[in-house]
Amino acid sequence: MTQKCFVCGKLYEEGREMACSDACHDELVSRLIAEFGEFKKVVDQATGTAYRVSTKDIIERGIRWRDLDRYPLWETGARGPEATD
Ligand SMILES: [Zn+2]
Repeated sequence: MTQKCFVCGKLYEEGREMACSDACHDELVSRLIAEFGEFKKVVDQATGTAYRVSTKDIIERGIRWRDLDRYPLWETGARGPEATD
């Protein structure tokens, strides 16, 4: 299946999930980290528990819900659960 590279726009047959090459993949990762931050807050819908998941892991492996507990808990800090970041 031909896919379009998210970074350079080139069509490619085989490669990474969203990029045609390792170079484009690395570029994609750094763009997304710049946009979303190094970690993303991911909430387990079943338990309501928030985890601190590396943006790079999400891009490279996707979120696997059963693996969420491998990640550290999202710190809510001294301000308590009302804090949004
Ligand atoms: Zn590319």
